[in-house]
Amino acid sequence: MRRILHLDMDAFYASVEQRDDPSLRGRPVAVGGRPDRRGVVAAASYEARKFGVRSAMSMARAVRRCPELVVVPPDFARYRSISDRIFDMYRSVTPLVEPLSLDEAYLDVTSNSWNEPLATTVARRLKRWIRDETKLTVSAGAAPNKFLAKIASDWDKPDGLTVIPVERVDAFLRQLPVDALWGVGPVTAKRLRAAGVVKLVDVRTADPQVLRRAVGSRIDWLRRLAEGKDDRPVSPDRVVKSSGSEHTYPTDLTDPDEIRRELDGLARRGAAWLERKGLAARTVTIKVRYSDFATVTRSHSADPATRDAQQIVLRARRLLDRTEARTRPVRLLGVTMHNLSAEEDAPPGPGHPTLPLSEPFPPAGSLPRRTAQTPAGSDGRQGRRST
Ligand SMILES: [Mg+2]
Repeated sequence: MRRILHLDMDAFYASVEQRDDPSLRGRPVAVGGRPDRRGVVAAASYEARKFGVRSAMSMARAVRRCPELVVVPPDFARYRSISDRIFDMYRSVTPLVEPLSLDEAYLDVTSNSWNEPLATTVARRLKRWIRDETKLTVSAGAAPNKFLAKIASDWDKPDGLTVIPVERVDAFLRQLPVDALWGVGPVTAKRLRAAGVVKLVDVRTADPQVLRRAVGSRIDWLRRLAEGKDDRPVSPDRVVKSSGSEHTYPTDLTDPDEIRRELDGLARRGAAWLERKGLAARTVTIKVRYSDFATVTRSHSADPATRDAQQIVLRARRLLDRTEARTRPVRLLGVTMHNLSAEEDAPPGPGHPTLPLSEPFPPAGSLPRRTAQTPAGSDGRQGRRST
């Protein structure tokens, strides 16, 4: 049996800001872009959450909910260096550390360098150590598998420690509402509730046909979780599957040259990231959101994988030509690289399947957006065209 921890820093970016600027302590803080520039909340302090401010919410909305909100621009370099320190601590305890984001990780502590037989003790020691070293708090979940550990860490935030020993798994599942699952968004949750599935365990007895109508192909996934089963290992070298950046513009872009320049910049940023990571990408996807919020993605794959900035810019531009960006005002642009491989490697296959809940911030009611939004067939259609 495995002993898995899920560790999740509490309101990470916001906590770092409050730690480093005492005037922010005790005040509602949101880290993110400016409200008048269509900024988005990247992290909200617990004081801000009391007002209903949540991450991924538009900053304008956040300020409406909490007029005294202190908006702090993000400083990712600082967050990353703190994150690196924390991950070094994790890795000194076990080599089996799987990062999910800058502030979230799974650890398999079945065997650990402290020789602690109990995951709970490892979690307690890590929490204390992180607090001593960084003056930040982390919430921890300890359980026999990743799925339960992740739910547990979320159970008692901030600064929580929730343990689900094997013998209590069933009791825990019985109190777990079905919408506590990653990948079950509000729409699916509503459909499930309508089908009589309120708690996760209700999945066990629900009419399969009704269930299938509500969750489609994810029915088997849901069934396994309802039994508390999840045998995914903690993989320290889990391949990063994609990387991209997108930008929402303060005012809509209407000049085709400007749109192209912006897209070029995003593509170059992606190429720089590949360069830093020593990776190459087979697939480039662009995303265009028009002023009316209609959003399209266009994707292009080619062999061999590349990290050449000029190549990626060129591909992104060609994809832009397949949108209506010339004639419709553009609100957001994005460029993402997928099908990543280490430079010398052969192009990878479709990648090993992961459960939806392995994604840190899945969108409501769908499989991870990164997978779902890659236009179906686009890969195949374009796959053999070389640039
Ligand atoms: Mg966190």
